[in-house]
Amino acid sequence: MTSVEIRNVEKHYSGFHALKNINLTIDKGEFIVMVGPSGCGKSTLLKTIAGLESISSGNLFINGQDVTKEEPGDRGIAMVFQSYALYPHMTVAENMGFGLRMANRPKAEIDAAVKRAAEILRITEQLDKRPKQLSGGQRQRVAIGRAITRSPEVFLFDEPLSNLDAALRTQMRVELSTLHSELGSTMIYVTHDQVEAMTMASRIVVLNRGEIEQVGSPLGLYANPVNQFVAGFLGAPRMNFAEGKVASIDASGVAIAIDGLTGVVFPALKPNGLKVGDKVTVGVRPERLKVVSDEQAASPSFDATVRLVEHLGRETVVYADASPLRTVGSDTGTHNVTLQMGDIVPFEAGSAVRVTFDIADAYLFGSDGATLSP
Ligand code: ATP
Repeated sequence: MTSVEIRNVEKHYSGFHALKNINLTIDKGEFIVMVGPSGCGKSTLLKTIAGLESISSGNLFINGQDVTKEEPGDRGIAMVFQSYALYPHMTVAENMGFGLRMANRPKAEIDAAVKRAAEILRITEQLDKRPKQLSGGQRQRVAIGRAITRSPEVFLFDEPLSNLDAALRTQMRVELSTLHSELGSTMIYVTHDQVEAMTMASRIVVLNRGEIEQVGSPLGLYANPVNQFVAGFLGAPRMNFAEGKVASIDASGVAIAIDGLTGVVFPALKPNGLKVGDKVTVGVRPERLKVVSDEQAASPSFDATVRLVEHLGRETVVYADASPLRTVGSDTGTHNVTLQMGDIVPFEAGSAVRVTFDIADAYLFGSDGATLSP
C-alpha cells in the first residue's frame, strides 16, 4: 500500500531550482533514507513533504490523498529535527503531549499517549523533568516521543542524531530501527551519515543537485551504482577512480589503457557503443585493493608509495600515492589511492607497495558517468 507519493515535484526558491522533477513512491512501513552532498535538496524535499515549504509544481499524496495544498498539521505527519526544538518551560510530559493539546484532544487521551510513548522510549522516569535537566540522548528521545504521541502516518527525520556523540548515535540508531519495526510506520530520514543510511534504510534515495540519481536497497546501491556519482558517494572510504581510454575491443574483452596501471581488461563487457579511444573511468572500492609482493604475478596491478597509515584496530586504512595514476575527484591531495584492509598491517609511510585487484571487483564508467560494468 502506498504511503507517500511524490509526483513531478519541482521547487524554485527565488532564482534557484532546488528540486527538479522528483518522483518517488514510498510504501507503507518503509524506512526511506535520503542522502546526498550538502545543498543537494534533502532538507528541502523533507520540508515540502512536511508542508513547511510550498511545492512550486507537482503533487504530493499521503495515503492516497492529495495534500499538496494542505497545512502541515493536516497532513498526518510528524517531524523530528536535529535541534530538538523542545519548549524549555514545559516538562517532558507537557512537551510530548503538546501536539495533542493543540489539537484539543481530551486529557485522558493525551495522558495515555504520553505514557505509552514514554514506555516505548524508556523515559518514563523523566516525564516530570524539564529539558535542561536531561542529557542530549534523552532530549532527542523526548523529541521523538512528541512525534510518536501524534500517531502520525509518516515520520520525517532531519538528521536527528547529528548532535549526539558517537556512542549515543550508535545506540539511538539501533533504537530508531527497533522503533520502526515496532510501530510499522513509514519513516523518511535525512542524514549525512553513511552508516545510518546503510543500516537503517529499507531503501536509500541518492540526491544530487536537486535530482534523484538512484533509489534502491543499501546493498543494491553499493554493489550496483547506476553511475560514478552514486559509486563515489556511497561508501567510506570512497571508491578509488582512475581515468583512462579504451585501448582495444576484441574477443578477450574491452582493454583500458591507464598510465601506470597494467592489465585492465573487462572480459564480459558488451561494447554497447564504446569505441577505441573513448574516455572512461575505472573504479575500485578501497576494500577490494590488495597489496602483493613483487614476485607475485598479478594483473591488473600498479605501484604505489604509502603516505599515511590509519590503524583502527579491526581494520587499517592506507593512503598511498599512486602517481602516475590519474585520480578523479581526489579530495586527499597526493594521497590518491585508498586501501582498506580488515587486519592490522605493518606498512609504514614511505614504503613502496604493489597493489592489485580482481577485475570482477572493478567498475567501468563512461565519459557521461554512466556505469558500463559490471
Ligand atoms: P545540507 O546537507 O547542507 O543540509 P541539503 O541537501 O539539505 O543540504 P537544502 O537545505 O535542501 O540542502 O538546500 C538545497 C539548496 O536550496 C541549497 O543550494 C540551498 O542554498 C538552497 N536553499 C535552501 N533554502 C533556501 C531558501 N529559503 N532560499 C533560497 N535558496 C534556498
